[in-house]
Amino acid sequence: MTDRYASFVQSAAGRALVKRLGLPDPPRLRRHHPGDPLLAGPALLGAATGGRLAEPIAKILTAAGVELADPAAAAHSHGDTPQRYGALLFDATGITDSTELRQLYDFFHPQARAVLPSGRVIVLGTPPQECPTPREATAQRALEGLVRSIGKEFGRGTTAQLVYVSGTAADDPAHSAGTITSLESTVRFLLSGRSAYVSGQVIRVGSGAASVPADWDRPLDGQVVLVTGAARGIGAALAKVLARDGAKVVALDIPAAGDALAAVANDIGGTAVQLDLTAPDAPTRLAEHLASRHGRVDVVVHNAGITRDKTLGRMDADRWDQVIDVNLSSQERINDVLLERELIPAGGRIISVSSIAGIAGNRGQTNYATSKAGVIGLVDSLAPALRERGISVNAVAPGFIETRLTARIPLVVREAGRRMNSLAQGGLPVDVAEAIGWLAWPASGAVSGNVVRVCGQSLLGA
Ligand code: NAD
Repeated sequence: MTDRYASFVQSAAGRALVKRLGLPDPPRLRRHHPGDPLLAGPALLGAATGGRLAEPIAKILTAAGVELADPAAAAHSHGDTPQRYGALLFDATGITDSTELRQLYDFFHPQARAVLPSGRVIVLGTPPQECPTPREATAQRALEGLVRSIGKEFGRGTTAQLVYVSGTAADDPAHSAGTITSLESTVRFLLSGRSAYVSGQVIRVGSGAASVPADWDRPLDGQVVLVTGAARGIGAALAKVLARDGAKVVALDIPAAGDALAAVANDIGGTAVQLDLTAPDAPTRLAEHLASRHGRVDVVVHNAGITRDKTLGRMDADRWDQVIDVNLSSQERINDVLLERELIPAGGRIISVSSIAGIAGNRGQTNYATSKAGVIGLVDSLAPALRERGISVNAVAPGFIETRLTARIPLVVREAGRRMNSLAQGGLPVDVAEAIGWLAWPASGAVSGNVVRVCGQSLLGA
């Protein structure tokens, strides 16, 4: 499960060899620890003329204790001790025509080497479908290319994201307070070490109700969270991260994994439910358990998943059926019963684990890729339907994550999978868990209908 090569390149001998032979150089990523500052250095904030988000963003950064760099000093910092930044943020909402894209070059070009290791680049735009003219929609769509390329160029653990912020909602631009509330959780997540392995993503922030936590180090305080497949791997990391953030975790797995499940639940002061999700009575048993113990479930994380790999011509029907049933149909059945019985209250969250295989397809995984693409369909179809009820629906799509599942892949394929991304390394279960955590926060109510890849900007399906 360990990436020996990544450890080796951190040693003195390793560094020398990597340099001499031009080998991949996976940087050590900055990850979150409670109490950490959001950034390792000041943030430089720029804005296109006429942008609507610079002011709310400056307020979010200041409230989060981030030091704002002086743009005038930045323009003249080419001397012996140039200023270095923890993050570069640019409000591009003022760009209404392709000829104005030059403002991006003018802001980022002088700072291309000024970002600290594990730095952050965030560009804010307007969703193209909301733009009043084709010219503006075109220019806003162009932002994706810049961000994805910066993610590939800047290196040393720097990540880059585009956040499209709706301008039509209750959080009308005139009401900067509403914009701050809907945007704050996403900006905090993206700047922090929680998003270490998230890069090259386009995130849409809409208009759902969001609430600011009393303590940003416990953003899930008092929330009842169900995690399926919690006995090991990503699910076990999820249970830990969500409990650390203040949630009451209900950890579920199959009876055969009962001991490991009990250990996870005990470790975090959560409760364990032994249940095979594919059993015909699983949805009703689960609903009854949640209703009698907690009266509700604020966050449902559909993480349990299986693979049964074979090329399609060699695949028996059982392999197909099992994978579709565990990874997709059981999620639908459980959602239906929990929603029907109104156990997920307003402000609730449904978060599913997809995979980049569901985006790119994968040889030997027709069943798995079908199920994981179906999960994306579930998000697309349920998110608008549940908006009225104040429930958000999102998915994360992990790339190569260091777990038992990926440890079983033959060495050469495994090495290729690990390195074929902008960060030149596999992610950790905790990286997927942190992304799910952010989507689960009550503060993230304005984030719905997203599929966020946790893949280090993998080349697959990009
Ligand atoms: P894992 O095999 O380590 O853990 C999956 C857990 O789900 C196990 O504890 C298992 O017992 C449980 N589970 C399986 N069937 C179940 C059922 N019918 N009822 C209840 N529980 C059941 O896998 P992981 O690597 O931690 O993956 C977690 C999720 O992430 C899965 O949905 C997987 O497809 C997805 N994913 C993983 C990777 C990766 O690189 N590891 C990449 C992309 C997506």
